[in-house]
Amino acid sequence: MKKTNSEALYSKALNYFPGGVNSPVRAFKAVEGSPLFIKKGDGAYIWDEDDNKFIDFCCSFGPLILGHNHPEVYENIVANLQNGTSYGAPTKLENTLAELILSRNPYIDKIRFVSSGTEAVMSGIRLARGYTGKNKILKFEGCYHGHVDALLVKAGSGLVTFGESSSAGVPSKVAEDTIVIPLNDLEALTACFEQHHEDLACAIIEPIPANNGLLLQEKAYLEKLRALCSKYNVLLFFDEVISGFRVAFSGAAEYYGITPDIVSYGKIIGGGLPVGAYGARAEIMQSISPDGPVYQAGTLSGNPVAMSAGIAQLTICAKEGFYEDQERRTKLMVEPINTYAKEKGYDFELYTIGSIFWLAFSKKERIRRADQINSDMTPFKNLHKALLEKGVYLGPSGYEVGFISLAHTDEIIKHAVESFYEALDECFG
Ligand SMILES: *Cc1c(COP(=O)(O)O)cnc(C)c1O
Repeated sequence: MKKTNSEALYSKALNYFPGGVNSPVRAFKAVEGSPLFIKKGDGAYIWDEDDNKFIDFCCSFGPLILGHNHPEVYENIVANLQNGTSYGAPTKLENTLAELILSRNPYIDKIRFVSSGTEAVMSGIRLARGYTGKNKILKFEGCYHGHVDALLVKAGSGLVTFGESSSAGVPSKVAEDTIVIPLNDLEALTACFEQHHEDLACAIIEPIPANNGLLLQEKAYLEKLRALCSKYNVLLFFDEVISGFRVAFSGAAEYYGITPDIVSYGKIIGGGLPVGAYGARAEIMQSISPDGPVYQAGTLSGNPVAMSAGIAQLTICAKEGFYEDQERRTKLMVEPINTYAKEKGYDFELYTIGSIFWLAFSKKERIRRADQINSDMTPFKNLHKALLEKGVYLGPSGYEVGFISLAHTDEIIKHAVESFYEALDECFG
């Protein structure tokens, strides 16, 4: 595989950006080689600067549920772009996107658009604290909620621990208000609520944890979390930045039938342009400025070009049968690969939900907690390289999940399955 152009661009980029990238997960730190510089995407494919073509299962880490350059998204962006890019005043487009979402989403009455998932979560946390008048938040080990200071914390030892910052620059005072417990541990969960409920503003969780492997929780566990939040007057915050509009139109809340109090969205909502959002019942959203005392603002919030991309994308997602078909095509990929790996006795399984999949290098029991993931990422590294050489692009980390888009047709998926067979044989055979 020729990589000279990507390599030249990367060595330039190293002069400009820390690690040569504008988001750390893009650096090929966890896999072999240096990042491929992408010049074009169309449908299920991307092309790098050396004209290598790949089936793309990264899909920009989630936003592109219709694939690259979907004609309706493209056309709506261009149509609205002709009127300029930003006004700092409200537009009809914001209403349209809000109506599209709120008319189908029974969990939230009002929404506020921001420009990223991080911003959505950060604002939602402030809202939870402002509304409840309490300061502490509960998060779960292995869940990622953007680079929000209070959420860049990890668990120490013990069942219920106060957060210890896992990023330099996060004051311990900030991390102290974050309590971290492991996922899938009912005892730790109950103990935490019993001990801390008086100070807890909210419990924030990725209802489908997909940023540290795919740590699928049992529905009963999520129901228990809902029940404890209700019992102790703690807000349940579903961070649906990945799962929203991915596993169902109204995300994991709809998929599991569990009602959160605050929700954050991102990724898919913006159709590939920067949009995030948070929402809640009217009573909670009343706390947000200018109606209430919780301040939150944004120069480019509800940006008309970004709104038009989101409108076009979500209009297609809202069509009858969209999610069933996404799931059907995902199974078309996951099932034969899993059967193949099992027959050959390889330590490998694709975990899946909706149109998300994750490469688990284990035959052990179901992995539901961050600490159950094998920290040796050599098998992922090898498979990543082998797949790349066969024209299959995965995100460059074994902790990242893959995504299937509308553009991943049956035919493309069958081709990818063959590539997986060959790559697995090379790595495990
Ligand atoms: C991606 C992600 C975020 C952060 O969103 P950005 O747009 O990258 O800031 C937050 N929460 C979850 C669950 C995510 O997957």
